[in-house]
Amino acid sequence: MIGIGRTLKQAVTRAVVGARWFSGNANVLLRSNTLPPFSEFAVEHVEPAMKSLVDDVASDLASLESSISSDGYSPSWSYVEELQRCTQKLSDSMGMVSHLQAVQNSDALREAHEKSIPLFMQTIIQTNQSLPLLQLYEDLASKCWDALDRPQQRIVESNIRSMKLGGVALEGDEQARYNEIVVELAQLSAQFGNNVIDATKSWGKEIVNKEDLAGMPASALSMAAAAAGAEDPEAGPWKLSLEDTLVVEVLKHAANRSLREETYKAYVARASDTNEDVFSKILELKQEQAELLGFRNYADLSLESKMAENVQAVVGLLEKMRKVAYPSAKRELEALEIFAKNVQKDDGFSLKLWDVSYWSERQREELFSYSEEELRPYFSLDSVLQGMFSLTKSMFGVEIVETNSFREEKVQLWHKDCRFYSVVAPDTKEVLASFYLDPFSRPAEKSGGAWMGICRQRSKLAGTLPVAYLVCNGSPPVGDKPSLMTLREVTTLFHEFGHGLQHMLTRVGYEGASGIANVEFDAVEIPSQFMENWCYHKQTVDKFARHYETGETIPVETFEKICSARKHNGGINILRQLFYSRLDIALHTSEYDIAGGAEGAYRLSKTISEQNYSVFAKIEEDKSLCAFSHIFAGGYAAGYYSYLWAEVMAADAFASFEEGGLDNEDEIQRIGQKFRSTILEMGGGEHPAEVYKTFRGRAPSIDALLRHRGLSDD
Ligand code: ZN
Repeated sequence: MIGIGRTLKQAVTRAVVGARWFSGNANVLLRSNTLPPFSEFAVEHVEPAMKSLVDDVASDLASLESSISSDGYSPSWSYVEELQRCTQKLSDSMGMVSHLQAVQNSDALREAHEKSIPLFMQTIIQTNQSLPLLQLYEDLASKCWDALDRPQQRIVESNIRSMKLGGVALEGDEQARYNEIVVELAQLSAQFGNNVIDATKSWGKEIVNKEDLAGMPASALSMAAAAAGAEDPEAGPWKLSLEDTLVVEVLKHAANRSLREETYKAYVARASDTNEDVFSKILELKQEQAELLGFRNYADLSLESKMAENVQAVVGLLEKMRKVAYPSAKRELEALEIFAKNVQKDDGFSLKLWDVSYWSERQREELFSYSEEELRPYFSLDSVLQGMFSLTKSMFGVEIVETNSFREEKVQLWHKDCRFYSVVAPDTKEVLASFYLDPFSRPAEKSGGAWMGICRQRSKLAGTLPVAYLVCNGSPPVGDKPSLMTLREVTTLFHEFGHGLQHMLTRVGYEGASGIANVEFDAVEIPSQFMENWCYHKQTVDKFARHYETGETIPVETFEKICSARKHNGGINILRQLFYSRLDIALHTSEYDIAGGAEGAYRLSKTISEQNYSVFAKIEEDKSLCAFSHIFAGGYAAGYYSYLWAEVMAADAFASFEEGGLDNEDEIQRIGQKFRSTILEMGGGEHPAEVYKTFRGRAPSIDALLRHRGLSDD
């Protein structure tokens, strides 16, 4: 659940919100700014600016509504532009505050940000439930359709849809009940998330004997020692918590089997004492919300605005993959058990859930021995960036240059490590777009993970170019060494840059469908996952992965191991994703019996697992639904399948480059131009199934994904 959650939120709110032009104001959030003036920002600006901007939008919206309701009204696109004009400033200012909240957090800023969210939400509800605006969009659809271009038509369609899903068509008690549900769901999902955080912190296992932690890497020991307040990570004591990173380390590396078992069982039972009621209530309210809006269930509601046509299409794809993944996973598991038996010289050993990661890791080490650490010297940030930019130039024909100015203004950065780049047309030197890069981790003030955020959109109306935030949490430079990245950090950078390319190379000039705006949720991960594939292509990687001291490339044998390790236990890995995707859909359809509450949900989880969505029977302690934050606190309800759905297309798109020859520069350029003119340029201006077909000449196939994941023979 990386940046896209944030990005989508920005895109959605951007489409409805933002305000008027001031000049010379000391409050930077009330000024019209080409780019955010980060060095002049003060936390004290937030509250007064938000109040004032929200008021402005409310009064502008009221006058827009009355002009739509007046006698002289005749439907035209200019009203949509007017709405955009009156919400732009609020959108830009809120975007700047949200961005700073994520990269330069402080208690004061968090408080100011939290206070401004309800105000902002109020504007969204007002806009979503405005009957005159609905009238406008319906008139545009019925009376002006042929005069609109395709992106305009898509914007009209999606606005009508999101207003209907936002309760505009409901009346009286029903609308009041709908609004109540929306508020209650927002509170419940925040509570769900907080309960998970609390449960994660509250479990703690003290360890005094270092032998109990045998096998654990030094970095994990340091974390556990710090948690116990110990000064020396070697001497202890240590404290284990249920934080993801630490649990993963224990399950992968702790030789102590009973410690793994205890940790595993505590982890899958996380928040079960607090979240059972919360998630059952969420499921109940979502069903009620769906019925109020005329849907059979929440899955139907969720899919209304996604690329997948309906529940059957999603389940169909999951089933198709499961049929391949399940036998593979079974075979992998048998091989893993034999491996564990041999190493331990114990024929009676039987593999349990808490053994899978541990033995899988030992098997991986034996088969493809290389460590993340030994790769770091090949991946210095600057050479990785140069390599990524040169790949971008050969595929998409644009140059990327570092600069400190934008439209003759000096660019202000929020931290000294940040950089600013422009995307330039090579022949004319015209600047097409720009982006900020914030590469390094700063745990004290910056959120974890990585994301692409929107700073400015391409807009014909406002005359703006797209500007993106690319935020990563890579390893900072230590001493006089450059920043040396892990392979995971490199693929993450490529991933976010892929999102950035779709935002920046868009040709759509309307905010409502420019870049990633209006791209269906289950299609938005195509360019990002597509870009990751290049990190496993030797010739591409050789261009930038040079040892920072010797200049050597990664040895061929090591590179082959990296590529094979990517496919290692591919069946087990994909089956886990398939299980959660299938369960998420089931919970939001009539497969789940609301009256059964949490117990009913656990029974459903067991049933799905027994339909060959899992190679292990569920253990009684497994209440992992109580920590399934993606769907209960993160906006992925009946949408968790989106990762796999988009990965199918990302892999199939990369396969078209494979078919052309990954070493054939002319083909890379030819297919790259096609990728650019379709997937990257059309943004949300056309349905993703159409966009994909225009690129590939056919509907997506799952073969490439299965091959990349090691689930087919070649
Ligand atoms: Zn992403």
